[in-house]
Amino acid sequence: MKIYILNTGYLETKRKYVVASDNSTAFDENKIMKLPVMAILIDHPDGKVLYDLGSNPNAMEGYWPKHLREAYPLFQTVDQRLENQLALCHTTLDEIETIVISHFHLDHCGNLNLFPNAVVYAPKEDFIWGQCLVREDINPATHGGYVKADLDAPIKKYHLVDKDMEIFSGIDIISLPGHTPNLLGLMVHTENSGTIIFPQDSVYNEEIYGPPAKVSGLLYNKQDFLNSIEKVRHLQQKHNAMVVYAHDEKFFQTLKKAPLYYD
Ligand SMILES: [Zn+2]
Repeated sequence: MKIYILNTGYLETKRKYVVASDNSTAFDENKIMKLPVMAILIDHPDGKVLYDLGSNPNAMEGYWPKHLREAYPLFQTVDQRLENQLALCHTTLDEIETIVISHFHLDHCGNLNLFPNAVVYAPKEDFIWGQCLVREDINPATHGGYVKADLDAPIKKYHLVDKDMEIFSGIDIISLPGHTPNLLGLMVHTENSGTIIFPQDSVYNEEIYGPPAKVSGLLYNKQDFLNSIEKVRHLQQKHNAMVVYAHDEKFFQTLKKAPLYYD
């Protein structure tokens, strides 16, 4: 089994959206932070699994509504497009039959339209929440971090998940609610690199993880969010695992990126 970390570019946003303000004068809430956006390809003997999909490459050309282009501008080179990152791993779009979506925010499911033949594992409560939100009011400014076009992608089959489960031998989905109504983290047990946990937006960065944990600037449920971080910490200690923070610029630089891999 090989695990490739795909660099699909980065977003910029204000610090207050990443870490909740502590109301001290030292907290610069408007400081611009660079948030790397990754997708993960797992080449498993039973098939190739893609975990999260980055942002749609047309995001800044009007695919995203204005409020998202302003709050989270996307920076992505042609080389960082998902299909070109997969090509680095000698993988074509057609080869991906299994996808796991952590949650339906703009920077995690933006290329669903590329995979009409894949089976997509997705967090049940977040799927329902997002689908309802983008249909309740036509004004996209009321849709939070969800993009209606992403949620409209023609998928062969959704497999909605509401509990921890193993999808392939050594690949576990872990349920981590709080950032959104539910969020699917991934825990992968490898032969040479040990256990690797991808909590995605349950743990944006090292500052959020602590200990002590900090809450992020945007949340669905604060107590669930904190409980999910402690669940990650428990699993990290149990398996002596590496935790891969979702959007940590400094940490991202230390990771092996495709075409390099963990195995
Ligand atoms: Zn998110």
